[in-house]
Amino acid sequence: MKVLFDSLSRRLGSLLPGELLPSELPQLLSPARHSLLLDQRRATMIVNRVRLFALLFAVLTPLWAVIDIMVFDFALWSGLALFRLLASSAFVCLLLFYRPSGDLFDAYRAITLLFAIPTLFYVASHTLLGTHQLSEFSAAVATGYAFLPFVLMAGLAIFPLSLQENLALASLLLLAQGLAGYLGWSTLNWPSYAGGFWLLILIAGVTALASMSQLAFMITLVRQAIHDPLTGILSRGSAEEILDLHWACAQRNAAPLSLAFIDLDHFKAINDHFGHEAGDRTLCDFASHLQAQLRDSDSLLRWGGEEFLLVMPNTDLAQARLALQRLQQRGFGRRPDGQALTASIGLAERLHDHASDCRSLLELADRRMYLAKQGGRNQVCGHHAHSAWQPANLLEEREP
Ligand code: GH3
Ligand code: MG
Ligand code: MG
Repeated sequence: MKVLFDSLSRRLGSLLPGELLPSELPQLLSPARHSLLLDQRRATMIVNRVRLFALLFAVLTPLWAVIDIMVFDFALWSGLALFRLLASSAFVCLLLFYRPSGDLFDAYRAITLLFAIPTLFYVASHTLLGTHQLSEFSAAVATGYAFLPFVLMAGLAIFPLSLQENLALASLLLLAQGLAGYLGWSTLNWPSYAGGFWLLILIAGVTALASMSQLAFMITLVRQAIHDPLTGILSRGSAEEILDLHWACAQRNAAPLSLAFIDLDHFKAINDHFGHEAGDRTLCDFASHLQAQLRDSDSLLRWGGEEFLLVMPNTDLAQARLALQRLQQRGFGRRPDGQALTASIGLAERLHDHASDCRSLLELADRRMYLAKQGGRNQVCGHHAHSAWQPANLLEEREP
């Protein structure tokens, strides 16, 4: 039984996107465990694609009125043309007024608006067509209107979405299709309606797979772009974006934000005595050791060389100091000769230090790291005589 189960799970596993790490797979199901950075890049991509879609629809929607005028009488044509004009103007508004903000809820709203416009157009035109007697030829053109939900459902495939998000949007489209059926129930051809509904569900399934594989590529690309190849933790390249995101979030919620600047002590001696490779291994061990002890919400970045930055959102100075003391007590790993690896740490907190912006908070943590070095290394420096931060104080701190 176990052999069967193992073989089945291996076979199923081979169907999953190979570019993802096993720990990243749950991210395909729900956005709950996405990093802030992935959220931001995804939100930007979604809004850009919404605008592309809106441009396409804004041009194509009124163009079809040329076909309509050849097959429908004037009263029906003018009604449909009015709906087309309204839909096209709504697409133009979406294109003009919606810009990427990096906020995921903005992106959800953009997709909802993008899909709401043709859905309303579909329900309105469907209802209007239902009230007219059509000749065989014009009825054939009118069935073209029934394809709109399929186009929309397939259109979901251009967005990088998790299964949960995809299901929510697909259900909205299925609901709209149900509503259109309900409104035209008296004239409805039930077998063809049921066949169409089933086809829509099948397309929803294929679309969900397409959106999830787009998301998988995006998760991989973001991971590769923002991680340091040696230690696997976040790299300096992503630091600015990460710091800005945390800063904006802390400011919005009037929440504390602590930064710890960590510099390993006498690291050059490791390279000098044991070689560069031993130094590399020590850096990797340090990073994985520290990472394993941090909260999920904390971010550890490799600032460069043997310097690291620890970002602790929603953590005030006292809590950050406690957390660092705990880390120090557990140790930062070992040097190749078995001695304890130590670090000098500068700590700064947004509210306590009255930092005016992200750069000054970072600079303050950096200065305090130097104070910790001057104080004899292997210690945390989180304050000084002038706890309210001003550039003048900073200059004083520079004095040995
Ligand atoms: P201090 O206690 O004052 O911080 O002394 P230190 O030796 O740690 O500081 P210093 O800035 O003099 O030297 C940092 C060393 O870190 C020098 C450099 O060779 C080493 N280093 C930087 N990046 C890497 C790396 O990727 N791998 C290895 N093995 N060593 C690195
Ligand atoms: Mg250094
Ligand atoms: Mg050092």
